[in-house]
Amino acid sequence: MRIVLLGPPGAGKGTQAKELVSKYGIVQLSTGDMLRAAVAAGTPIGLKAKDIMARGALVPDDVVVGIVSDRVDQPDALKGFILDGFPRTVPQAEALDRMLKTKGQRLDAVLELKVDPSVLLRRIESRIEQMKLRGEALRADDNPEILKQRLEAYGSQTAPLVDYYRGRGALRTVDGMAPIDEVTAAISKALADAALQTGSAGKRAGKASVARKSASKAQKTAKKPAGKPAGRVKAAIKGRSKTESKTRSKTPIRGRKSTGKRVVKAAARRAARGPQKGKKAKSARRLTK
Ligand code: ADP
Repeated sequence: MRIVLLGPPGAGKGTQAKELVSKYGIVQLSTGDMLRAAVAAGTPIGLKAKDIMARGALVPDDVVVGIVSDRVDQPDALKGFILDGFPRTVPQAEALDRMLKTKGQRLDAVLELKVDPSVLLRRIESRIEQMKLRGEALRADDNPEILKQRLEAYGSQTAPLVDYYRGRGALRTVDGMAPIDEVTAAISKALADAALQTGSAGKRAGKASVARKSASKAQKTAKKPAGKPAGRVKAAIKGRSKTESKTRSKTPIRGRKSTGKRVVKAAARRAARGPQKGKKAKSARRLTK
């Protein structure tokens, strides 16, 4: 199972991702956590991301796409994953589509956790309070001023993804304002619906593709010039089977009975088109004499 969790900061993505990890035995891939680890380790990516994250802005797409692509190739992600915090921009979503395609994988669902903006600020403030009480280190970007920037970045750069995925029929919206276990239940239901739909959508897509193929075949046949029927069509016209037709097409032209007549006719057609230069013209003149 491969899932994208979409939602603004404080929507509860981390909490729900943990539920999904234990329920489906898949891994949670949080780009925020990966970047924070890179910052803590002082890697080149971390050095690049540090100040950007502290401002509440988004790290460049190529940096994040690179770390996600490497991460989904790890053995523990083969069974499936929950992307938390990625994609965050339309170019990242497009890169994810390409990335999964080349790996022969696809998304099962995109879950949007919808929460009222006024609630988000309160949620994060209480998260900060609880972390302080537990003596945990606070995130550099967990303060009201930066939180506003993060919410703004979400509104302008990440919210358009809702339309991006809705347009692809992958989006499932869940009310993130409900109590945690109700949100978890709604997510389970959304994933079951998505699985059902993917199955029937797959069948529908299969039928549609068969229909498209036969329509395009019919179109191609219709487009063939009357004088040049090919392959199966040619055999059908002449009352020959496909095998006969194939055998015939492999027979050297010189060995065919009607070859003489056909060559003469073609030469006559060329001659009727007017004077020609070169070898072909010479043979046409010779044959039509
Ligand atoms: P939040 O709790 O606000 O959803 P995250 O922990 O997911 O935040 O990410 C924290 C910060 O890490 C972001 O504000 C941003 O600077 C950076 N970040 C995380 N994921 C991405 C991403 N996909 N693209 C760009 N920047 C990202």
